[in-house]
Amino acid sequence: MKPIHAFTSLAAAIGLTLAATSASAAKPADPILSNAEFQQCLDGLKNSSQFRSVDGFTFNNYRPTAPDPSVISSLNYQPEFQKDVWDYLSSLVDKERVEDGIRARRQWADTLRQIESRYGVKPEHVLGVWGVESNFGQTLGKKPLFESLATLSCFDRRQSYFRGEYANALKIVANGDIAASDMTGSWAGAFGQTQFMPSTFLELAVDFDGDGRRDLVNSVPDALASTANFLAKRGYRSGEPWGYEVKKPDGFWGSSNRKDKKSMSYWRDKGFTLANGSPLPYDLDSAGLLLPAGADGPAFLVGKNFDTFYSYNASENYALAIAHLSDLISRQDSSKTDFITAWPTDDPGISRQQAKDIQQALLNNGYDIGAVDGIIGDNTRLAIQQYQSSRGVYPADGRAGQKFYNLIAANGSSTSAQPSRTTWQNPSSQPAQTSQPGRVIRSNDSMSQLIESKQGYRQVQGADGVIRMVRVDDGAQ
Ligand code: CA
Repeated sequence: MKPIHAFTSLAAAIGLTLAATSASAAKPADPILSNAEFQQCLDGLKNSSQFRSVDGFTFNNYRPTAPDPSVISSLNYQPEFQKDVWDYLSSLVDKERVEDGIRARRQWADTLRQIESRYGVKPEHVLGVWGVESNFGQTLGKKPLFESLATLSCFDRRQSYFRGEYANALKIVANGDIAASDMTGSWAGAFGQTQFMPSTFLELAVDFDGDGRRDLVNSVPDALASTANFLAKRGYRSGEPWGYEVKKPDGFWGSSNRKDKKSMSYWRDKGFTLANGSPLPYDLDSAGLLLPAGADGPAFLVGKNFDTFYSYNASENYALAIAHLSDLISRQDSSKTDFITAWPTDDPGISRQQAKDIQQALLNNGYDIGAVDGIIGDNTRLAIQQYQSSRGVYPADGRAGQKFYNLIAANGSSTSAQPSRTTWQNPSSQPAQTSQPGRVIRSNDSMSQLIESKQGYRQVQGADGVIRMVRVDDGAQ
């Protein structure tokens, strides 16, 4: 992911802004950074108060020889494309991830039991975070942390914040918790199976396997216990569910306000039931109403434990993904990953496998969309748009949803080895297999405004209530 994530209000800390009206949506080119200036900056940092607790040997030993300009372009990347909540959830909570979670629960059952008895956190809640954060330890991010954090410490915005994280990352290695070679992560410095920032690591990581090191990269017990410790320290209430999908009474006009917590009697009296119509249980101390897509979509009553998921990454949709994944893992049922109430769309989102199927079908039809990776980026989006045009679909919007999945599946494309040249819309264009690898031909100006989106995004709601998209590195869904 991955991500800017995993930590409390990083989005607010680095001041991400939404550039919804910007015409230049593509990721900016990497800036040219002066290495002389970088080295001079590092000399200054070494003697600064923020690095007082880092010994000179450690600083010099892991001192980067050059800056990494890509992290600066990531810092300033303002994607225009906003993922709808149903797309966001269907790619994060799909059959594959639920099945991986059920397997993980079986594999780590003893450890999860011990963790529950020490921290009071339910196994499925720990697994929900683990699955969303790092795909159960499979997606950790590959950027060398010292290079990323040193570069962010010396250039562009938020240098003071990143200097603190850089110093903390050096302390983690100096403490012997994690090997320097394992210090890789997101462009912003979140790392390991929990995707903690270094400051969160120093505050909350625990050694659970008893080897004396807090190794959130290689030790699953350490990572799971540290996740439970994070949730416990943020106010997790033992024995409580996170909340429920509910059904609103007819004529209810309240708005989404998760923080306005009321007793369950209050909600019962209002006429709320569970989504399946059964009465609301009383096992939540209090709950607030969450309406992720407004009045018409699924509705939830969420308690304090939902708020602890939220504190992991300051996004309600993110917290809902953890909550929903944890329920499905707990039920051990991967057959249906939708909520009971449908999203207010006639074109629901697709799973990662369906994204791969679409990409393979496009390849089979002669569209050179690059690798089949299940991540709908620029090239895939453009190819979808061209395929839609060729089939007379209006609007040809490039959207990878269930409608397009059904369209391309119905056309038997997955078995077609021939490019559909005859249906190509723009006679001046050619099927992309003749273009340079990984690129598709741009057929009009609006195409050039499609964002470079090989990465995923996640919605983050800032303290000001504004929803912003932040990048999720390395395909971490
Ligand atoms: Ca350990």
